[in-house]
Amino acid sequence: MKKKPGKAARLLHEAKECQDPEERERLGKEARSYIMSRIRGRDTSPELLVRSWVKEAGYRYRLNDRRFPGSPDIYVPRLRLAIFVNGCFWHLHECEGTKVPTGASPYWLLKLERNKERDRWNYRRLEEMGIRVLVVWECEIRTKALKERTRETFLGTLKELDALAEGKRNEVI
Ligand SMILES: [Zn+2]
Repeated sequence: MKKKPGKAARLLHEAKECQDPEERERLGKEARSYIMSRIRGRDTSPELLVRSWVKEAGYRYRLNDRRFPGSPDIYVPRLRLAIFVNGCFWHLHECEGTKVPTGASPYWLLKLERNKERDRWNYRRLEEMGIRVLVVWECEIRTKALKERTRETFLGTLKELDALAEGKRNEVI
């Protein structure tokens, strides 16, 4: 299986660059625990879960394709669909699970805001390229029940997109 390049390195880099010593330590811890989780429990990773759904639906996909803005975690060529599996904290999801620590430095808040801004920009660029964007949030697959619900919605969305893509293909012919 192709290893996702970059994420661990990016987390470590962000930790190293952080100006606030406390934050730096916390970030370093998070980066290390992320790396450990990748080593320990590969099949528990949210990305692998979503990948398995795409596989289940029978589509070929590409991972982290750098030709597209934001290097989507999963790209499904047949549907022209970019899928991002986002951690709520890093991407500043407006959900209950996103707790920015009280007393977080303005530097740090700005950094998260920038992540979010970059996401928005990437999604917009993809849409301009005629590529659909689907985001699966970590909080949507946190529990077994949520996983099952999200899986159903996800597969339903793929089916709808497939019908649309099929319609388009027929038009061309
Ligand atoms: Zn969330």
